[in-house]
Amino acid sequence: MEKEKVVIIGSGPAGLTAALYTARADLKPVVIAGSQLGGQISLTSEIENYPGFFSAEQTLTGPELVEVLQKQVEHFGTRIEFDEVTEVDFSKGSPFTIKTYGKEYEAETVIVTAGASPRRLGVLGEEEYIGRGVSYCGTCDGFFFRNKKIVVVGGGDSAIEEALFLTKFASSVTIIHRRDELRAGKALQKRAFANEKISFIWDTAVDEIVGDATVTKVKLTNRKTGETSSFETDGVFIFIGHFPNSKFLEGQLEMDEHGYIITDEMMRTSVDGVFAAGEIQDAVYRQVATSVGQGTAAALRTEKWLSERE
Ligand code: NAP
Repeated sequence: MEKEKVVIIGSGPAGLTAALYTARADLKPVVIAGSQLGGQISLTSEIENYPGFFSAEQTLTGPELVEVLQKQVEHFGTRIEFDEVTEVDFSKGSPFTIKTYGKEYEAETVIVTAGASPRRLGVLGEEEYIGRGVSYCGTCDGFFFRNKKIVVVGGGDSAIEEALFLTKFASSVTIIHRRDELRAGKALQKRAFANEKISFIWDTAVDEIVGDATVTKVKLTNRKTGETSSFETDGVFIFIGHFPNSKFLEGQLEMDEHGYIITDEMMRTSVDGVFAAGEIQDAVYRQVATSVGQGTAAALRTEKWLSERE
């Protein structure tokens, strides 16, 4: 059993920022990276909206930002373990037990930053074209579709909000929804129906995403008539919901009905000594910059929590 002052579960922007701050406070944090160091940003082709990292010649990519962050946190004394948490026991209070595939840790404090994952459609071509026309983030990738023709899949608040946002760039936005009625709130619906760049394909499922170097079309089936068709497009934005990666915490921390961990303004969870930051507790903002802020806050509270116990 390894004894640690701070164990951080997850290695996205929230987790690595929490690591940076706790490392600089000499707490020698351990980051359990999960399946993908960097989390969702490692899937992002270009990041233009993270303040302070900009060059007109060459845009920062997600993997590049992760590489810099990794160097930065390791430089200040963070240990990154390339492992996944399988089980935690927070029931007896601090110190907490964390099991991974390879090890078991005893942690005085825990910062949970395991993030969220965009729901996938699960169709042919989807994985293949991520970053080459398939995207799960309008704010991240919309800019690259200036004057292009795109489709948005989904009918909830996210899909409609993002479709409206994407009309700033795209020449046309076609929303493909599996029913004939939107789930999104009425106000958003009204704005979408009034926007002349937006059109709808109802009752339709996307069966396949097709392309060459980048996406060129989607193959569709009308769910009512069974009729199949193809629709030409330069991009496919998929907004069919996110899910927080909190399954391994069920029964350990209080969550809302969607599985998001409940935190207060100090990033405290329902268990004293366990903090959470980033998308596992934030269904609203979901930006690198906001996750970094939440990771900072969680680290500062963790440091204070430990110093008050000494
Ligand atoms: P959501 O409300 O769960 O909507 C998901 C949408 O994707 C639904 O229209 C659903 O269709 C569709 N969908 C799900 N699985 C699909 C599949 N396999 N194939 C095709 N379509 C599929 O998710 P969300 O829009 O991300 O919103 C999540 C939460 O955040 C909600 O509570 C929402 O109100 C909130 N939110 C609020 C705002 C805002 O207030 N401005 C903005 C964003 C999000 P069906 O309708 O047929 O189920």
